[in-house]
Amino acid sequence: MPPLMYGTAQLTARLEPWMERLLADPVLCQELIQQYGSPLNLHDFTPMSRNIAELREAAAEHDVDFQIYLARKANKTIGAIDHAAAEGCGVDVASFHELDQCLKRGVPAELLIVTAAVKSAELLALAVENDVVLSLDNVDEALDLLDIAAQSGRRVRVALRLASANPRIAPTRFGLRAEQWLQFLDSAERTQGFQVCGVHFHLNGYSAQQRALVLAESLRLIDALLDLGHAPEFVDMGGGIPMSYLDDAAQWSGFWEDLAALPAGDESLTWKSDRLGATGAEPSGSVYPYHQKLIRGEWLDQILESRPEGGHESVAQMLKRRGVQLRCEPGRSLLDGCGMTLAKVAFVKTRSDGLPLVGLHMNRTQCRSTSADFLVDPILIHAGTPRSERVALSAFLVGAYCIEEELILRRRFEFPQGVAAGDLVAFPNTGGYLMHIIESASHQLPLANNLRSGGQGWLRDDIDSMILD
Ligand SMILES: *Cc1c(COP(=O)(O)O)cnc(C)c1O
Repeated sequence: MPPLMYGTAQLTARLEPWMERLLADPVLCQELIQQYGSPLNLHDFTPMSRNIAELREAAAEHDVDFQIYLARKANKTIGAIDHAAAEGCGVDVASFHELDQCLKRGVPAELLIVTAAVKSAELLALAVENDVVLSLDNVDEALDLLDIAAQSGRRVRVALRLASANPRIAPTRFGLRAEQWLQFLDSAERTQGFQVCGVHFHLNGYSAQQRALVLAESLRLIDALLDLGHAPEFVDMGGGIPMSYLDDAAQWSGFWEDLAALPAGDESLTWKSDRLGATGAEPSGSVYPYHQKLIRGEWLDQILESRPEGGHESVAQMLKRRGVQLRCEPGRSLLDGCGMTLAKVAFVKTRSDGLPLVGLHMNRTQCRSTSADFLVDPILIHAGTPRSERVALSAFLVGAYCIEEELILRRRFEFPQGVAAGDLVAFPNTGGYLMHIIESASHQLPLANNLRSGGQGWLRDDIDSMILD
């Protein structure tokens, strides 16, 4: 039997057992929505343990000292911190509140790193007070930090954020080049004020080869820091560890081929014939690569065994010879399988020209990242009691913001057995970025509530009751 809902060009989600169990219980889904509102963010962090293990096993194969820091910006729940910490992982934080909450939750200082792009004086002071490593981005920030450190009489632990000088790496706004850092540190006062304990970088994209190149560059900076009398202990290669939302590679490539074959203006696959940034039949660079061949462990293995720039040593050997720990900061790929968004159908209607629309109690910032679209098919649950018979439909999902372009997803969907007000739509695997990274409360519509599965059922995550001041 075909599913109750699927993309006109199908992109079938990979589901976790907890998602399948929940989806098989429409009554519970309806009760949760009734109690906590629509949309609702549901979390079960058990898959995070598997994701962590995949990475750790790959590092262990190479006998590399390795530590994982969950990138907290990918998901704001306190449950995510708790689960990462229980697994012995650290957390990468990007603001005062992200750091404050981790400290209050008992995450030890050595398992925290502050990588915020812009750091407030309050954030700098909180990190210094608690001896948390800060990844330094620029000279102004470093000088602000030195002032704060001088007042507190402490030596501050920092990592240097490295902007690669390699022409094969895209220019970046983050960090400074190695020679800029070395020049900055070439003063007794600065070298005494800072304890440089590592080198940090984070690259756009998911290339293993590029990470191997910048790891080699980072280790050269580590050597120069040792010469200056510092004792760096780690290289942190940031996030961007790949994952797959879709199991079927052919569906993924087929979607882009089908989209490219459509004449301009044809809305049979996407709203207003949106190409989602694609220029031909290849996947667009404006969306996440929802199917990837090498993910997590296998991808890390490829980095560790590679010999960048044709050298004789592998990345693993380069790290081990220096006794340097490898760190990473995965967000999305650690949260793979940990989240699902549930929303209630508000209405079924047609656009003024007759095109069918399904309206949800939800807005488009509640299942969206910074990319052009979320390319995973939702799942329909026939939970409503239809006012009239459900009939087969091919429609777009629209949301609550009063904007013509308020599409929840830009793709078109088939409802072979119809859809009605009161039905539920589940968006699978939204735990990494899709729920929180750009969510807004425009029109004074409240933010979605966050639940996590506990021993006895579904519990509220503490983040929703925290008052930020
Ligand atoms: C966003 C970010 C991450 C996480 O990236 P993912 O793609 O989610 O793995 C890690 N480190 C830094 C510095 C980041 O900005």
